[in-house]
Amino acid sequence: MTDRYVYDLSEGSAEMKPLLGGKGAGVAEMKRLGVPVPDGFTVTTEACVDTMTRKGEWPEGLESQVWEGLKRLEERTGRALGDSTKPLLVSVRSGAVISMPGMMDTILNLGISDDTVEAIAKEADNERFAWDCYRRFIQMYGEVVEGIDAHVYEDALTALKEQKGVESDTDLSADDLKGLVDTFKRLSNEQLGGNWTTDPREQLMRAVDAVFRSWLNPRAFVYRKANKIPDDLGTAVNVMQMVFGNRGDTSATGVCFTRNPATGAKELYGEFLVNAQGEDVVAGIRTPRSLAEMEEVLPEAYHDLINTMKKMESHYRDMQDMEFTVENGKLYLLQTRNGKRTAAAALKVARDLVDEGVITKEEALMRIEPAQLDQLLHEAIDPDHTEEPVAEGLPASPGAAVGEAVFDADVAAERGAKGEKVVLIRFETTPDDIHGVIVSQGVLTAHGGMTSHAAVVARGMGKPCVAGARGIKIDAKAATLTIGDIVIHEGDMITLDGSTGEVFASGLKLIPPQINEDFQEVLSWADEVRRLGVEANADNATDAAKARELGAEGIGLCRTEHMFFGADRLPAMHEMITAETPEERQAAVDKILPMQQDDFEGIFTAMKGLPVTVRLLDPPLHEFLPNLVEQSLKVQKMEDQGADAGELDKERRLLAQVKKLHEQNPMLGTRGCRLGMLYPEIPDMQARAIIRAVLSVLKKEGETVQIHIMIPLVFTPVELETHRRIVQQAIDEEFEAAGTKVDVKIGTMIELPRAALIADKIAEVADFFSFGTNDLTQTTLGISRDDAENGFLTEYLRTKVLKNNPFASIDQEGVGQLVAGAVEKGRKTNPELSLGVCGEHGGDPDSIHFFNKTGLDYVSCSPFRVPIARFAAAQAVI
Ligand code: PEP
Ligand code: MG
Repeated sequence: MTDRYVYDLSEGSAEMKPLLGGKGAGVAEMKRLGVPVPDGFTVTTEACVDTMTRKGEWPEGLESQVWEGLKRLEERTGRALGDSTKPLLVSVRSGAVISMPGMMDTILNLGISDDTVEAIAKEADNERFAWDCYRRFIQMYGEVVEGIDAHVYEDALTALKEQKGVESDTDLSADDLKGLVDTFKRLSNEQLGGNWTTDPREQLMRAVDAVFRSWLNPRAFVYRKANKIPDDLGTAVNVMQMVFGNRGDTSATGVCFTRNPATGAKELYGEFLVNAQGEDVVAGIRTPRSLAEMEEVLPEAYHDLINTMKKMESHYRDMQDMEFTVENGKLYLLQTRNGKRTAAAALKVARDLVDEGVITKEEALMRIEPAQLDQLLHEAIDPDHTEEPVAEGLPASPGAAVGEAVFDADVAAERGAKGEKVVLIRFETTPDDIHGVIVSQGVLTAHGGMTSHAAVVARGMGKPCVAGARGIKIDAKAATLTIGDIVIHEGDMITLDGSTGEVFASGLKLIPPQINEDFQEVLSWADEVRRLGVEANADNATDAAKARELGAEGIGLCRTEHMFFGADRLPAMHEMITAETPEERQAAVDKILPMQQDDFEGIFTAMKGLPVTVRLLDPPLHEFLPNLVEQSLKVQKMEDQGADAGELDKERRLLAQVKKLHEQNPMLGTRGCRLGMLYPEIPDMQARAIIRAVLSVLKKEGETVQIHIMIPLVFTPVELETHRRIVQQAIDEEFEAAGTKVDVKIGTMIELPRAALIADKIAEVADFFSFGTNDLTQTTLGISRDDAENGFLTEYLRTKVLKNNPFASIDQEGVGQLVAGAVEKGRKTNPELSLGVCGEHGGDPDSIHFFNKTGLDYVSCSPFRVPIARFAAAQAVI
């Protein structure tokens, strides 16, 4: 039996989305609910997948099923493809399971030909309309299906307009267009070496095939990668009877949302164009009118639309994004889907729907994409600035962007990849610009509305975007943006405010993001349901305060070595590392102690009694010592120049130490607890600094501190025992001297495979474990965490040797096994053991799901990831 590849619209429903794609299932569901939609059929995603696996060859039965589907459509509509009296025209549209706006191909007006064009003109009583459809069809079909360069058609159209002395396409007469169709046909045939087909049935087959192929086009790959959509889903193809928004002044086409997708407000939101066809609105070619104006122009269709919007939103219990066409005053819906929205809108809509009693808090939480919340954590322009905007456009995607002006997506991609901050400026973006958009700070376009491609894509990515900025002139070739007499060249600084639509001709100062009431409210729901604790990685009082503000329940990792990167402190650190005798080392350590104490006091004060996990020094020495080659050159130069003997001696001593301490592989060298094993003065000093800070905060603020001292990079219980002894002795002495004491927990990081494997033994001497999944990933996969992304890992990700970057999202299969095993072993010998994670993975939603499942007690991540982690932790238990 051959597989079923084609379904009539009336056979589908929303549940069939995986098979029929979002568009096919959405239209079928609308039909089921009695909403007017054009008739048609859907070729399944499986047909596309099977065609891809057969390297482009259609599977058995597909072609005949398409013919049968067409036949049934012809019977239902009383029309036939290619028929010269009652011709059927269809659209052929892509429709992936997860929507990918504008990334794949569409062909409209298929069925128009020399044989049918007259009948269409007659039926519409509009010759110009028929010929306009015809020339649009050749253009679209030629470009999309046959791969003919768009310029071939654009140049001919421009030449004709010049010859006729008109500015706009709409000024061309029916006869002009008739001539243009002849030109287009001739050019197309030339381009294809005489192989241009005029048979609509063959065109239909080729169009379906082209939509399949468009799943594999480069921009679709880029989009899927950016949005983590699997490459093997395939697209469905929807063949639907054409309805015409371009039949005259009682026809229109548009896009609407049931709520404002930028803010979430329950208000009218949408755009339409009178006498225009489908893609004109989405593609941003003409700047559309606001939906509110439609009430006057097309009142009946407007009211039908408003009712349908309400109906669809309550049916799907979520904000809808809909496409519609009005043909001769009658409304048709072409698509409905859950609307893409900014994070701010997602929160507001979720909150409102819960308030309206439409969904539960748990459902609301599940609808929010934790990673999307990043947008809210976006920067804004410092409100104290005094600059006047030089231009204004539509506030298409919130947040502020500052960077150097770039006018070409390739240039943006190249410079952005190098970490340079660029703002992409285009007349309008097309899906081909996606690789440039991804790496830009923000996007500015001169044309197109809130639903234009640039706007939709930028919003989805959380990139600031100002669209359709009026009065700006972009010369992409010359790489200039002209606004009145201001000229911005490539490389000049520019600032965009995607929340207001303002554009500034300089680089303005940005301020950190704000978290509003909706955010707080929805976060509080997350806190009610999550099991995992959420702490933060913070090394100073400012970060600690931020972390607390963002809801961190403690500090899960305070990296003490980070306190010594400052120029004023590095010398003391050098002295300590390079000391040759215990006396010298003690002297350096004595200098460092008060600095450490001071830092700890700041952090403990900011955390106001919440737990703080301080990790003892873990410096890969290369991060603190001069480079061997550079230090050698420096000494050489000083010798050549006959430098001061004392200075020279100092540098020579340093060079000797650098040589002595030089390691080929410092990440696997004298770091972590190994340093304390060699130089016990260091953990001793750190423990004293911690306790003195605890005592001082207790005295000054009356605030107790839940202190956890963490020993890094342990692979044998002996290391932990040794450190425990040193640290405990210092703690006891300090408390005794002060005549008071607080409880101090001492634990370790599990960040080496051996530690994970013998976790039962280590747990016997630990109060807690914190999984250092950065090092654990590095040492389990044998991939250098410092070099990975510069080298083969990028290639591994591109070629799918690895699905995800293991440093961003935990390798559940490998590293995850070590974590799960260590949790089980550790709890067996020490049921009281507290368990957390403090590697970068602690802020990654997928990893958080895994840690929740594994039974960890908490995750710790950078302060700005804390809200995201709170959400993800809630979703993990729903
Ligand atoms: C880790 O290795 O995961 C960790 C948190 O420690 P660091 O990143 O400081 O090595
Ligand atoms: Mg580590």
